[in-house]
Amino acid sequence: MEEFNKGVVYNVVTGHRIIFWLDPWLVEETLCSKFPNLFVVANSQDMYIHEVASQSVDNWNLTFKRRLYDHEVREAAMLMDLLENFKFADGEEDSRNWKWSKNGEFSVRSMYNASLNFHDVGMDKQIWSTLWPARVSFLMWIVSNRNFLTHYMLQRRGQIIASRCNLCYAASESIEHLLCTCPFVWRIWNSFLEDAGVSTVLQGSVIELLDGWYKKFDSRQAKLVWKMIPVEIMWAVWKEQNKRIFEERKQCWSRVLNSVKVLIYSWGKLHEEFKVVTLDYMMGHWKEFIFDPP
Ligand SMILES: [Zn+2]
Repeated sequence: MEEFNKGVVYNVVTGHRIIFWLDPWLVEETLCSKFPNLFVVANSQDMYIHEVASQSVDNWNLTFKRRLYDHEVREAAMLMDLLENFKFADGEEDSRNWKWSKNGEFSVRSMYNASLNFHDVGMDKQIWSTLWPARVSFLMWIVSNRNFLTHYMLQRRGQIIASRCNLCYAASESIEHLLCTCPFVWRIWNSFLEDAGVSTVLQGSVIELLDGWYKKFDSRQAKLVWKMIPVEIMWAVWKEQNKRIFEERKQCWSRVLNSVKVLIYSWGKLHEEFKVVTLDYMMGHWKEFIFDPP
């Protein structure tokens, strides 16, 4: 998330779409990370800028749960200093622009190029692949930057995650649970591992899981399939959660498992190695498909 934040330029016009403490609109980082002590005691933790600014910029409506201690007062003074120089921009509505592309629009390519400057490329290679669509790469990238997906922020924006897991109905809010360790999801992972004769116990974090996702195959087709499996699982599980939340439709785990296979087929067939494979064959002969491709 920190990396993502570095690429976003916030343009605050009305303050209706940007969260005061949680979006990095005033300085390069979020105010909650710049002033952590103050954030903890703030009454406005999830308020939008316009709610905190109330009538005018000179009148920031910042209140706290109790009297501030000295170190908090120091943070408050620094914050007030920063706010003093802030001005609402002209325009219609708040916007976020992406500073690493020429037109300000977010693109996976610009994110990839920018992320090369930040950290080791090994992980990125697993994420930014032509084996799957760019939107999937972006989901993977978000997942691998775990800070991004805190339950809190997503819930505040009315998206995806509730405090109860929508797949197994246990209370949970971690991305690890939702994409790997949830019993519903785990059955899907396990099914692929069993078919491939891999007895690895899955690690708790998505990153460790992706890092350790390796098996030696002779055929190039099997290698491609194996590389796609984790990504397809996460994508299918993500879609399933969205369906449950937004469309109130649900599928059982084995149907989600099948949809993972269908995804592998439909994305795989863009590649030479899949030219002779049919969907019927692949679904009906999954094990042979991995070990002994036609
Ligand atoms: Zn669950």
